[in-house]
Amino acid sequence: MSAKIIDGKAFAATVREKVAGHVSRLREVHNIVPGLAVVLVGDDPASEVYVRNKGKQTLEVGMNSYEHKLPEDTPEADLLALVARLNSDPAVHGILVQLPLPDHIDEEKVINAIEPGKDVDGFHILNVGLLATGQKAMVPCTPLGCLMMLREHHGSLSGLNAVVVGRSNIVGKPMAQLLLRDSCTVTIAHSRTKDLAGVCRGADILVAAVGRAQMIPGDWVKPGATVIDVGINRIPAPEKGEGKSRLVGDVDFASAVQVAGAITPVPGGVGPMTIACLLANTITACCRANDLPEPS
Ligand code: NDP
Repeated sequence: MSAKIIDGKAFAATVREKVAGHVSRLREVHNIVPGLAVVLVGDDPASEVYVRNKGKQTLEVGMNSYEHKLPEDTPEADLLALVARLNSDPAVHGILVQLPLPDHIDEEKVINAIEPGKDVDGFHILNVGLLATGQKAMVPCTPLGCLMMLREHHGSLSGLNAVVVGRSNIVGKPMAQLLLRDSCTVTIAHSRTKDLAGVCRGADILVAAVGRAQMIPGDWVKPGATVIDVGINRIPAPEKGEGKSRLVGDVDFASAVQVAGAITPVPGGVGPMTIACLLANTITACCRANDLPEPS
């Protein structure tokens, strides 16, 4: 039997459509145009692609996009000054500083300089604390996208055994918090976990956020489980020609799809949902800033 493929690309399109509807209403009824500022320091090619996509999709849903590209050797103080300007700019409702930052800049200092209400990445220490204590937070985009796909597929997640492989601050930990908030029984696994295969086999929901190509084989997946593959790894693809490559997840899709009940592909699963959730978070931030009801 083959698993249902969870189509993140199609789901992301429906999220963007809803966001576009909220943008029109904010514009027509309240005369507000939501604005997202994205800051890129340096010229990392992968980050440049992300930033370009974010800017394009922001404009497509009718929001204002403000892109700030700074040279690699930008002093930390200059970046902090830009963040301060964006914090006090009423046209900017969301601020995203693209990570990673160059080594001479303290990432935590910059993230925590962002006004928490505008922190659409949800990485500010206040938002992390609000999420952990079950209060109204800005929720990090990648785990939020995973949660939306899980809710769409399962309806209620209550009582399900969820295993999150990976404990990073941007994916693993907030993912675990969100699953806990939805009343899953949550296990967080990492590089020191004993019997990772056995831990994964107990999962009704298995979220892989490791960054190791195809490390989770199908025989680690419980029959019928839902598998969310966050990993984005580039591997050589000689079948496509010399020097060519392709993207794969942290899960070995070919074997896992035979066992799982549902699975996200890479590409076309979690990735597209991340940017859609960034746009949705910007609407949330805009509504909160203007004391308007937030979209559900
Ligand atoms: P990090 O490198 O920050 O974290 C990786 C985690 O995996 C760590 O907690 C690490 O454990 C754990 N790990 C590493 N090796 C093993 C192993 N052999 N067994 C078990 N656990 C292991 O990565 P991120 O969380 O930032 O990203 C994870 C993946 O998700 C990457 O492929 C990234 O590209 C992708 N990603 C995709 C996004 C999207 O939009 N789809 C967005 C963000 C990330 P330990 O803590 O013990 O070292």
